[in-house]
Amino acid sequence: METVALPLVAAFLGLVLGSFFNVVIHRLPKQESVVLPRSHCPRCLTPIRWYDNLPLLSYLFLGGRCRSCKAPISLRYPLVEALGALLLPYVVLRFGIGWEALRIFLFASTFLILFFTDLESRILPDELTLGGALLAFGCSFFLDDPNWKGSLFGATLGFLILWGAYLFHLKWKKKEGLGWGDIKLILLIGALFGPFRMLWILITASLIGLIVGLGVIVLFKRGRDYELPFGSFLALASILFLFRFSWLEHFFSKWTNLVP
Ligand SMILES: [Zn+2]
Repeated sequence: METVALPLVAAFLGLVLGSFFNVVIHRLPKQESVVLPRSHCPRCLTPIRWYDNLPLLSYLFLGGRCRSCKAPISLRYPLVEALGALLLPYVVLRFGIGWEALRIFLFASTFLILFFTDLESRILPDELTLGGALLAFGCSFFLDDPNWKGSLFGATLGFLILWGAYLFHLKWKKKEGLGWGDIKLILLIGALFGPFRMLWILITASLIGLIVGLGVIVLFKRGRDYELPFGSFLALASILFLFRFSWLEHFFSKWTNLVP
């Protein structure tokens, strides 16, 4: 009984948290409070009633449209709610209930939110990037991999690489190829993962960016004026490495062994 009850409770809690993540994704880039006021439809400004604000269910009942003005509701809402409902049980089943599970869930949620804020608003809020970097550095004092030195070195190295790329773009291409948000995000990634995994995340994110960039050019003919959300790719790669999937770790550790 307990084996079923625990994931179920976690899924329900994750659903509610996913609903909160949606509020953060919508409001934090605009520097609005994530607590007050109550949610309203972004088009007709009608306050959303509690029964129209139930995670997943309301989206289905309303057919994905606002009750008042019939404006379509972004598919991101049910998607993030569903991801929350999958993420929490996964973390609880894999890491148990304790500090490590809490740490993994907190940072996975942070990357999930950052993925969508960069995708939708091209903004990576300081509260999450710099706040997360400080938290990751704080956690490193209780960890071995990375310890506080690795955490500090990872953040510094990441900062220098992306800052260098930023200056390079500014000087040679006369435009910002990276934003300061990306540079602050790499502080978080470096502090959380240490130098080696930070580098792998940077490479993975760049590969994703290359594939998506080519896809955008081929499929949508959007050419060079389309600004790719590099922060979203960094966040996605970070989630993959946060869970330490054995296939991924195996692949990269093989690679690392090639380099003496
Ligand atoms: Zn409306």
